[in-house]
Amino acid sequence: MSEHLPTTNEQPLPDPSVTVELKTIVELCKARGIIFPTAEIYGGVRSTWDYGPLGVELKENVKRQWWRSMVQLRDEIVGMEQAILGPTEVWQASGHLANFADPLVECAKCHQRFREDHLREEQLGAEDAEGDLICPSCKADTLGDPRSFNLMFKTNMGPVETAGSTVWLRPETAQGMFVDFATIQRTTRRKPPFGIAQMGKSFRNEITPGNFVFRTREFEQMEMEYFVEPGTDEQWHQYWIDERLRWYVDLGIRPENLRIREHGEAELSHYAKRTVDIDYYFPDESMGWSELEGLANRTDFDLKAHQEASGQDLTYYDQPNDRRYHPYVIEPAAGATRATLAFLFDAYRVESAPDAKGELQERVVLKLDKRLAPYKVAVLPLSKKESLTPTAREVFDLVKVRWMSEYDETQSIGRRYRRQDEIGTPYCVTVDFDTLDDRAVTVRDRDTMQQDRVPIAALESYLAERLPVC
Ligand code: ATP
Repeated sequence: MSEHLPTTNEQPLPDPSVTVELKTIVELCKARGIIFPTAEIYGGVRSTWDYGPLGVELKENVKRQWWRSMVQLRDEIVGMEQAILGPTEVWQASGHLANFADPLVECAKCHQRFREDHLREEQLGAEDAEGDLICPSCKADTLGDPRSFNLMFKTNMGPVETAGSTVWLRPETAQGMFVDFATIQRTTRRKPPFGIAQMGKSFRNEITPGNFVFRTREFEQMEMEYFVEPGTDEQWHQYWIDERLRWYVDLGIRPENLRIREHGEAELSHYAKRTVDIDYYFPDESMGWSELEGLANRTDFDLKAHQEASGQDLTYYDQPNDRRYHPYVIEPAAGATRATLAFLFDAYRVESAPDAKGELQERVVLKLDKRLAPYKVAVLPLSKKESLTPTAREVFDLVKVRWMSEYDETQSIGRRYRRQDEIGTPYCVTVDFDTLDDRAVTVRDRDTMQQDRVPIAALESYLAERLPVC
């Protein structure tokens, strides 16, 4: 593990002068069509969000990078996609129907509902701290006793509603890898240590969703179950903690904004031997250190539980030693939507830059890693004049084949540069009147704002040298 990555809870706090309010990110996302409320024309649905043209590119790029590092670049990890709707048996065996619940308290005065563990953390400093709580909304001391609230969404499959037709929207992607373990192991002929990875939607009826896409009732996860020989589990757990930290840093998150947090005894899930979280420091006052990803040593709990409930053999046959065993499981469980928010926060910068008259102006720039940027290239004809259009279109047709690109011809060139900075486009290619004579374009770099004159014939290789394969 590299030296600069934090490994403990005791690390210096990130620079307190760097604050980016959540409100600023939400406004930028709305103004630029990145992420905005679902069904807004009908007043919206609390805590569900739609991803617009840029948001869907950004989120898919985050997922693409996770898949690339987990599946594409490794020969011992394979991918899968499980159905979102699943039968009761799966969630009974996994323990979700019995245990996947949060403590809910209701205020007798204003009737608002809250997660009791979150209130203890906020008001008393720890989730399990003793003491009296007040309602965070009306400030009365009229909170009732906590009751257990199951977070699973239930629905019905088929035209007739019976007890047997109940199905559940998955609350995590992990169970797919346990339920399909035997089929995937057999068909891929993998031996421990090997992994199965999955990304996709999960659903939790969270009591208090909030902080934009940080906690929503419908979200996306990126999870990998790594099956190892018992006895090697602790070492593999540490390996994956280091690997996952490195992934965030490699994609541009500042290392000082990441930390590892060890779960205490009381916090450990029923299946876990050890769990650590990777936390990110959201530089907004109300967010601070918050979980991005959990890394659990799930032991052989899940395979054994599904074997017992299904009656199917979920052991691995170790041929050389002629023995069967249930592999232990190391699970890096990340949130794609949460990570997208962290990447947005970490990339957000306000700088000053001279305008066309040489006067310093504020410049908002999303310094996203190029692999994550929604558009890699913007093609901007200097003006809408018809004489420029055919050449500008020709340039766009050239670059769009290799990179997600945008063609934009409205507004002044200065405003278009500003817009591309705000959405993190690494390269703007301007076609001007000289282009018609010299067949060259101006390429502007998002971060340095340096401009290079590049012949159209050399544009593809110029960009290919600077844009990583993703
Ligand atoms: P939290 O403590 O924040 O509720 P968790 O520990 O229950 O999260 P896990 O079950 O470990 O979360 O899920 C793995 C990852 O999935 C989390 O680290 C997070 O990134 C993401 N995730 C979980 N719940 C949500 C949610 N409601 N909205 C968005 N992302 C979520």
